[in-house]
Amino acid sequence: MKIAVIGSGVWGASCAYHLNRVGVDVELYDMWGPGNSRSGSGGASRIIRLAYGDDKIYTQLTNNSFRFWEDLSKDSERKLYDECGMLWLVSQDDSSYIKKSKKHIESVGQSIEQLSKKDAQKKYPIINFDDINEIYYEKKAGALMASRCCKNIVRKFKEEGGKVLLGEVKIDEKNLENKNSISFNGKNIEADKYVIACGPWNRKLLPKMLGEVTFISRQEVYYFGVPNDSVTKYNSDSMPCWLDLNSDNPSYYGIPFHLNKGFKISYDERSTPFDPDTSDRIPIPELVKRTKKYLYNRFPHLKNHPISETRVCQYENSFDGNFIINYHEENDNVIVLSGSSGHGFKLGPGLGELVKDILINDKDIPKEFDIGRLDNDNSSSQYYNAQIKYNKKKRLFN
Ligand SMILES: Cc1cc2nc3c(=O)[nH]c(=O)nc-3n(C[C@H](O)[C@H](O)[C@H](O)COP(=O)(O)OP(=O)(O)OC[C@H]3O[C@@H](n4cnc5c(N)ncnc54)[C@H](O)[C@@H]3O)c2cc1C
Repeated sequence: MKIAVIGSGVWGASCAYHLNRVGVDVELYDMWGPGNSRSGSGGASRIIRLAYGDDKIYTQLTNNSFRFWEDLSKDSERKLYDECGMLWLVSQDDSSYIKKSKKHIESVGQSIEQLSKKDAQKKYPIINFDDINEIYYEKKAGALMASRCCKNIVRKFKEEGGKVLLGEVKIDEKNLENKNSISFNGKNIEADKYVIACGPWNRKLLPKMLGEVTFISRQEVYYFGVPNDSVTKYNSDSMPCWLDLNSDNPSYYGIPFHLNKGFKISYDERSTPFDPDTSDRIPIPELVKRTKKYLYNRFPHLKNHPISETRVCQYENSFDGNFIINYHEENDNVIVLSGSSGHGFKLGPGLGELVKDILINDKDIPKEFDIGRLDNDNSSSQYYNAQIKYNKKKRLFN
């Protein structure tokens, strides 16, 4: 069987890798290469954690991905995975997201523990816990070196005989039932099956299928300088990854000082539209100001420390924050992977293996990922911030 995978972000690359391993003839296409700086999988780092509220499918897919990341990291010249743990700061009243996670985390043999404020203060003296209600710690969690990971998956895919082609793939969605509707350099891509995994470009390539059910949001990432005399207090020797479940502010999250860049902070909010082709990737002053206000309160010793590096990226969101894995209605040899919604990196390898089983072993697509669900119900359990509502008219969460 021959399968063409379009898009070598972490999702497409993982699918290509797993398909190639079971003897499929795989061609992997990408406009600018794996983990390129415009792609969702670009940039230095991503958090991997098991807590997912009651959505156990994500806990399981993440758990299925750990071994892959650990092996990939060992096999690479440079470290790709830092298992530094994950600290959940619950400053909102509702901690049900974490509480519901517990049984699913334990079902895969891992744990999440509540810490007293006193113990947490002692262990993490750089954090201001004044307005935090509850604190939880996940041990099996940490940071993945994102773009490096993605490039290394493709490196392994190539070492094992996979073929990578660089350039733009064009899709004529209106004629998708015809053989000549997916092309590269003016020639049809001949394959038995096609996997479309173009992240934020998916909805441009497949507007009929995805235009009404996905949207792209701007995400800004900042690295802050840390005090010269205490780098080790801010790196993974002393600090885990962290996320502040907060209903007044966006939920901020961060990764300890890494790759000599700085102390990373970003926010989980989907309120500013973004175009992956035309939007400038320069931070917006109001968002920088808001972040500094939050950071200087939560990490008071960083007060007045400057931003050392920034990055502007995008989420490819589905309207309920759950993934979309679906055959295209015009052609059931075309499977579309979409709606990674800002949480798709960590479980890329698990998802790639699932797609391999769907395509090769006739495994059913999990109902959670069926696009049909979006016809009826846009309520989400994905968002940490329970206040976020979906505005149907504006097609945005607000
Ligand atoms: C700021 C930020 C923070 C995040 N934090 C986390 C986190 O902590 N944990 C986590 O798990 N996830 C996180 N995510 C989400 C995660 O990074 C994404 O869900 C994931 O990387 C998406 O991967 P993808 O393969 O679907 O898409 P992408 O990585 O965007 O890949 C799509 C690829 O398709 C290619 N392409 C597009 N159009 C074409 C075409 N016409 N022809 C050929 N190639 C094409 C592109 O070049 C690109 O390489 C974060 C995302 C962002 C932006």
